[in-house]
Amino acid sequence: MIPVTKTYLPSLDQYVSQLERIWQAGWITNNGQLTKELAEALRAYLGVPNLELITNGTLALQLAIKTLGLKGEIITTPFSYVATTTVILWENCEPVFVDIEDKTFCIDTKKIEAAITERTSAILATHVYGYPCDVKKIEQIATEHQLKVIYDAAHAFGVKLNGQSILCHGDISALSFHATKLFHTTEGGALICQNEDIAKQIALIKGFGHIGEDYYREMGINGKMSELHAAMGLCVLPKVDEIVAYRRALSERYDSLLNSQGLILPLVTEGLEYNYAYYPVLFPSHEVMMHVRQAMIRNNILPRRYFYPSLNTLPYLRPEWQRTCPISESIASRVLCLPLYFGLEQQELDGICGIVTDAMQ
Ligand SMILES: *Cc1c(COP(=O)(O)O)cnc(C)c1O
Repeated sequence: MIPVTKTYLPSLDQYVSQLERIWQAGWITNNGQLTKELAEALRAYLGVPNLELITNGTLALQLAIKTLGLKGEIITTPFSYVATTTVILWENCEPVFVDIEDKTFCIDTKKIEAAITERTSAILATHVYGYPCDVKKIEQIATEHQLKVIYDAAHAFGVKLNGQSILCHGDISALSFHATKLFHTTEGGALICQNEDIAKQIALIKGFGHIGEDYYREMGINGKMSELHAAMGLCVLPKVDEIVAYRRALSERYDSLLNSQGLILPLVTEGLEYNYAYYPVLFPSHEVMMHVRQAMIRNNILPRRYFYPSLNTLPYLRPEWQRTCPISESIASRVLCLPLYFGLEQQELDGICGIVTDAMQ
């Protein structure tokens, strides 16, 4: 069976040698030495000023909303993982969906201003598959209308635009270090921000809002990462460049084997240092996509309908939030992410392309 992704696992010996450090210290959570070391190493690797490790990417997004004190309406994208919408609902805000661009799969900045009302407090947009949103335009709109900006950067680990980390944009960016992501800590995530006061506020509320012995300054929550999770991160991080290079080679082979099939393949634009987090393929119709998907499943290959459904159609949204987003709905009905992971063999990839090509005839 070939899955859409496979978690990179270090050797057990490597992991155990990190665990030994934890056992020696007798300290397994609450900002221990491995967590501090991982945060520092990630700051340096990503080239960002402030980074707070969090339990997972979903809670990271919730803490971002909480930290910025957002209320009312949040403009967001319908083409993302379900967490991008549910965090808005969990924080008692209202999602206002703005359709996406068909080239980048990211929120269409030309449509944002028409969705702003006096109740809008922020824009929450996703760098879909690691392709950057139009961060310049979003910043300009946000400044003009005094809105906060949060990026769901769960896919954007290590992505750079014109030499700068994409995570340096917006008020806060949220990363996920889930086992299915490019870089992982089993479960985990992080918040990145430019402003040091915001970073301090995040650090405070992820630790119960607790200062000193028994002073609880604010209503916080438990958003801490444990030492055991940080141990995994310390094993995976030194390997990340090799993982990205491997995935890049696979992606380029997909490009060359699939580009005559009338499919829309990922586009890597100028100035973009991409991380090869996903290999999305857009089919001409829903029927063709389902037909190819069936052919793959028959051959024990499991692509993923990522993202589906378009989030504006979630059944638990209030009817007035379910505005139609034709481009997102169309793409969600036609897209598949093909298997892409460290260790996927070239001959397996060639086999996958053969099945896609045959099914398209
Ligand atoms: C994975 C993912 C999340 C959630 O992150 P978790 O660490 O699994 O909680 C949020 N948004 C997007 C776009 C994701 O892909």
